Amino acid sequence: MSARRILVVEDEAPIRQMIAFNLSRAGFEVEEAEDCTSARLRIADSRPDLMLVDWMLPDSSGLELTRTLRREAANREMPIIMLTARAEERDKLLGLDGGADDYITKPFSARELLSRINAVLRRAAPSADEPLVAGDLQLDPVSHRVFVGEREIQLGPTEYRLLKFLMENANRVYSRTQLLDFVWGQNVYIEERTVDVHVRRLRKVLEEYKVAHYIQTVRGAGYRFSAR
Ligand code: CA
Repeated sequence: MSARRILVVEDEAPIRQMIAFNLSRAGFEVEEAEDCTSARLRIADSRPDLMLVDWMLPDSSGLELTRTLRREAANREMPIIMLTARAEERDKLLGLDGGADDYITKPFSARELLSRINAVLRRAAPSADEPLVAGDLQLDPVSHRVFVGEREIQLGPTEYRLLKFLMENANRVYSRTQLLDFVWGQNVYIEERTVDVHVRRLRKVLEEYKVAHYIQTVRGAGYRFSAR
């Protein structure tokens, strides 16, 4: 299985670094953010598989961040574990009500943290490793490789994510706004035209293998993947 990416949102650098160190050692890819604003940028950039969110952050609370993410289509299912210094039952309930999947009280051992993370990841992604197959195209989410028949094709990271999303949701039309939301995450700095640029790049690669027609433009509505 490819390395799972974990975003650690914590303003206290020594704690954040200690968590990052332990997670890297356990084989996770780690991203760090020191406040909610940079967490949002990280989410949009790299789509973490799980987030550890500290309760007390300088620009907003971790609880508020969690609540906001839960209202967004692209992030509704993001696995989130809240970190807090307070062991009060009231906080725990508030955190879980706010949409966190689990809750861990500081100080915690690396072992406890890892076991919580693994439990939440197991619940979150039961069968994300199956290859996606459509017509002559095959995408393997485990190795991040894409094939047309026997031949492997090379895609940039964004084209790969775009293709993966479209294949997972074949035969449905998505507007540019929806694609930005689902594939890029909600990043206010990205324009809708960006979607067209990446669709064009994706088609250009697929064209060499005579499968560009799988990516269809639906006039006035958006894009659709269909191998039919
Ligand atoms: Ca804090």
